Amino acid sequence: MDINIAITGGAGSIAYQLTFLLLNKLSDKTIHLRLLDLESQMHKLTALKMEIEDCAFKNLASLVITSDIAEAFTDAQLIIMLGSYPRLLGMERKDLLIKNGIIFREQGRYIDEYAADDVQVIVVGNPCNTNAMIASSVCRRIPFHAFTALSLLDQNRAAQSLANYLDKPLSSFKDLAVWGNHSSTVVPDIWNSKINGQKVQIDQNWVYNIWIPFVRQRGADIIAKKGSSSSASAAHAILEHIENILAEETDIFSICVKSHGEYGSTPGTWVSMPHKKHLGKLILINKIEHDDRMLSLIEESFTELAEERQRCLEIGIAC
Ligand code: NAD
Repeated sequence: MDINIAITGGAGSIAYQLTFLLLNKLSDKTIHLRLLDLESQMHKLTALKMEIEDCAFKNLASLVITSDIAEAFTDAQLIIMLGSYPRLLGMERKDLLIKNGIIFREQGRYIDEYAADDVQVIVVGNPCNTNAMIASSVCRRIPFHAFTALSLLDQNRAAQSLANYLDKPLSSFKDLAVWGNHSSTVVPDIWNSKINGQKVQIDQNWVYNIWIPFVRQRGADIIAKKGSSSSASAAHAILEHIENILAEETDIFSICVKSHGEYGSTPGTWVSMPHKKHLGKLILINKIEHDDRMLSLIEESFTELAEERQRCLEIGIAC
């Protein structure tokens, strides 16, 4: 099966990992790959193209590097939006809102005009939930459900740290999901997850005072040590996100989608909630219960998203 894939921010750190992962993992597809970045980054895109060519991927049918958004997005069936202004040390997501909102609004318009009718758009560039909202808000042809944002990296961080703490294999965990915003308010939910089919019995103090702060701060900790944000782990999570959205059936996983008010979230925001795929459809997991303490954390993250959306509406970045 042929698939047209466009990656924005193709000269950046995540793209440097993701392109090779994609070409290795989607070996059953014939891939037409387009990498978009700024004109000033064409030398890096050229070097990446040379390295991809040197791998002689048998499933790569064509490879284009470009700074022309229309060329990148024409007939694209999968668009991975990495291209953005970087979150630097000490920078909060809200600082990025305007800078990146302008990029995502413009690229959203190009998606609406040039992408394939059945395009799937995965937003990764931060603030990714709100950037997905911005890009989708300017679309008239491409439906809102084509746009999702990445929260699987938070889920993976939560799962691995839990496995380490409990000294259990990751394969024994199921149904662990993260709620809300991909930010320092994200809420990993342990109480609705299972170990070997049983509800998790665990010290509340560890959950609230160590584990949740650990998951929330992990990205910032990596920036502090590395000087730039997570790239290999982000690329890995993006690949899992792609595999989930292309799958017919999956276990429960976290994904940011447009809210219609589910679980008290603000309609029109893009919210991480647990979903699964069934018969190829993305289905929200209903009737999950939270105690008051979890509810107040989740509400805090929903409120942050609502405020980000409101700010975008006020300054006219989204509509
Ligand atoms: P990077 O700075 O290495 O690369 C970003 C690339 O985007 C650069 O090459 C830059 O030139 C390009 N770019 C900037 N403006 C552009 C535009 N208008 N059009 C096309 N390209 C443009 O960043 P990275 O490490 O690859 O990360 C990409 C984004 O992903 C960042 O916003 C980062 O915060 C985010 N991120 C999200 C998650 C998540 O879980 N959602 C995890 C890690 C990183």
